[in-house]
Amino acid sequence: MESDLFHPETPTPAMTRFARVVVERGIDRAGDSADAGLTYGAPDDVHPGQRVVVPLGRGDKLAAGIVVAIGGAELLAGLSASRVKPIARVTPVTLTPLIVKLASWMSDYYVAPLGMVFGTMLPAAVKKQTGTKTRVYVDRAPVAIDTPLSKRLTSAWEQVQALPAEAFPTTPRALAMMLDGVTESAVKKLIENGHLLATSKQEVQESRDWLMDCANAQNASSTGSAQAAGPLALTEHQTAALDRVAGTLGTFAVHCLHGVTGSGKTEVYLRAIEAMLARDDPHNPAHTSTAIMLVPEIALTPQTASRFTARFGDRVAVLHSGLTASQRHGQWLACAQGSDSGGGRVRIVVGARSAIFAPLRNVGLIVVDEEHDSSYKQDQLPRYHGRDVAIKRAQLEGCPVILGSATPSLETWANTKQAPPSANAPAGTLPSASKYILSSLPARVGQARLPPVQIVDLADERRLRALVQPEGWRDRHLHLIGPTLEDAIGQTLTGQGQVLLLLNRRGYANYICCTDPKCGWVMQCEHCDVTTVYHIDRRLKAGGFVRCHHCLAELTLPASCPDCKKTINTFGLGTQRVEAELERKFGPSHALAMGTTLLRLDGDSMQTARDYFTALSRFASGQARVLLGTQMIAKGLDYPGVRLVGVISADTSLSFPDFRAAERTFQLVAQVAGRAGRGKDPGRVIVQTANPQEPAIVLAARHDFVRFADFELAQRTESGLPPIKRMARVVCRDVVLAKAQNAAAEIAGLLREFEADLGLRVVGPMPCAIARIGDHHRIEVQVTANSRTAIQRAFASLREQGLLVSDAHTAVDVDPIALL
Ligand code: ADP
Ligand code: ZN
Ligand code: ZN
Repeated sequence: MESDLFHPETPTPAMTRFARVVVERGIDRAGDSADAGLTYGAPDDVHPGQRVVVPLGRGDKLAAGIVVAIGGAELLAGLSASRVKPIARVTPVTLTPLIVKLASWMSDYYVAPLGMVFGTMLPAAVKKQTGTKTRVYVDRAPVAIDTPLSKRLTSAWEQVQALPAEAFPTTPRALAMMLDGVTESAVKKLIENGHLLATSKQEVQESRDWLMDCANAQNASSTGSAQAAGPLALTEHQTAALDRVAGTLGTFAVHCLHGVTGSGKTEVYLRAIEAMLARDDPHNPAHTSTAIMLVPEIALTPQTASRFTARFGDRVAVLHSGLTASQRHGQWLACAQGSDSGGGRVRIVVGARSAIFAPLRNVGLIVVDEEHDSSYKQDQLPRYHGRDVAIKRAQLEGCPVILGSATPSLETWANTKQAPPSANAPAGTLPSASKYILSSLPARVGQARLPPVQIVDLADERRLRALVQPEGWRDRHLHLIGPTLEDAIGQTLTGQGQVLLLLNRRGYANYICCTDPKCGWVMQCEHCDVTTVYHIDRRLKAGGFVRCHHCLAELTLPASCPDCKKTINTFGLGTQRVEAELERKFGPSHALAMGTTLLRLDGDSMQTARDYFTALSRFASGQARVLLGTQMIAKGLDYPGVRLVGVISADTSLSFPDFRAAERTFQLVAQVAGRAGRGKDPGRVIVQTANPQEPAIVLAARHDFVRFADFELAQRTESGLPPIKRMARVVCRDVVLAKAQNAAAEIAGLLREFEADLGLRVVGPMPCAIARIGDHHRIEVQVTANSRTAIQRAFASLREQGLLVSDAHTAVDVDPIALL
């Protein structure tokens, strides 16, 4: 409910109280210097953190913003009070002082306008107040009322007085139903007469969340030993990890929980939250503590949700992409109210990246599960990393944060080895230099073992296939599944096992070219400097279409080469091609059919979160035998029926022009391998590659993260790359190449002035790895330095002078994780 505090037509009283308001901004508007806020007249009930609506500019266009300061005439800064406009409207949304502080840190650190950070923190549904309605509640008047009543109303009132106290407050309709022969309109009369007091309360329409329904259904039907047998006895390693976390409750500390897949990390998180709740004083509801658990969006399955609801019941709120707008709004309000006065119920939020902004008070523990996951980084403005914001929030809250993973990011890993910060480290820096507390869970829980991983050389596979074919026989098919993996799939299906197959590339073929090598025509996107991808779509008359994965332009496949009129060929890997190959190879023998017993999970086949969960539940029930997908299937899934995991190509991420290519490859192979052997059978994993000697692949096959991390950190040290150095990147984009080049050259020049003083190293300007996307040329400047502070200082200085602005033409990315 928003109240009109000042009506534009009525003369405003002389203002003495003022507010600084930072107006929220959308993602792509040009920046200006409004970060410090604009001054407005403020009514008495406006406080810092409050979301208000203010008139902007000459046309008094209304815009929403956050109050960052309240004060007297000092906020006018020379402006005459008569020229200051009053705040137009006050909304019920308020950010806590801590969240406002967090926003201002993010704005500085990630070089993004503060208004844009505010805009990101609040879900759209909260801003629009989706699904809100006002509900009236009635209660008995506390003092006797002597207004005479009609006979009908006297009887109604007598009945009301006879009701027990617990019956109130209630709604007029519910009250009428409790009484004999009393209508709702009679109840309303009693309100008018003052016998009943009415209060209105803003509520979000209750609508059920199907993920929670699934989760609760899974709990109810769960015969799994974990929940049924009561509390588990922790392993020695789990106990040690839990003790370390529990020992830091109430203070800021960063824990790295490195545990192989299935080692019981989630159990440690759950126990740590229990330990946090147990510290609360039941007699002092003002000090109830709360917890935030972040998971990668795609790992937020009914399985994850059900483990939390099984333990904490309705004290858990789940924020996920499958929520409707009003559900999202409802969950947000439940968080805000839950920890407000001790009256609400929500203590724990489980959600993806943006759940780090959940409006909980008194956060006592933050968990970032699969902390290495790249989905924690937002790839549009403000380009923040959810893990790093989590660390900052923990520091502000004064609580511990757990970063858990089977394959920790090298950023986190390096911090488990570094010395704690010196006492005089500059304030406001990310506590990256502090020593993280490392706990390791080196083995799977109980009888479960990590599966053996077999690396298969694709060159050998090709020779092998030639050997088994009769002489003179010509295979017209392209085989993405080699003989070794093919045999293993056949055996697993015969033995009633389930199969998980990973290929990190969508579509049918990513290389469309002329069959004549002398011609050399390759189908490129008209708007981007990339090749296009062929997708099969049986609903189309042409049988398929060509898409650019960067600007999403769609084209038809030419009938012949546009240059020489010869035939066209489609090459390369894609999940659709594997799908077709599986159906061809196992359709007849094992009744494998697309969409029923064979499921494909990728960005094309899964349009919504609901599609994804439906597919997973089909696989969980055993109805689907083979699950094929991109990295979507590499995370968090825990199905005991999986006996075989196959990686179609470990090379897709290896060839990326990015210094993290090896790290990504290691993570992907190790994570997907971890999906096997969740049952009694250890299962097996087969990894196909053209680079069988590659350390990332060899060490992932041995599940040896520590060796890999040491090896890779040595490489990074040698070449002066993160996490040994800090990095930031500025990308200038423009439809006119020269403009992008000039802008980048100017920024490079300005940054070079800091090279000597701050020890920056500036590389560029140079074209980005993808030099043009959506008709925009892209020129970048890369900066590395020994400390994050050096980069921050240089950027802050340029920003203050108005020389560096995050807008549609300039993208600043601090701690970039992708360098395309
Ligand atoms: P991770 O999060 O490291 O992948 P989980 O916490 O999911 O591991 O644990 C893997 C499995 O082992 C789960 O089914 C879990 O219920 C079970 N588990 C965890 N800890 C124990 C324990 N101490 N005793 C018995 N089973 C456990
Ligand atoms: Zn394109
Ligand atoms: Zn040609």
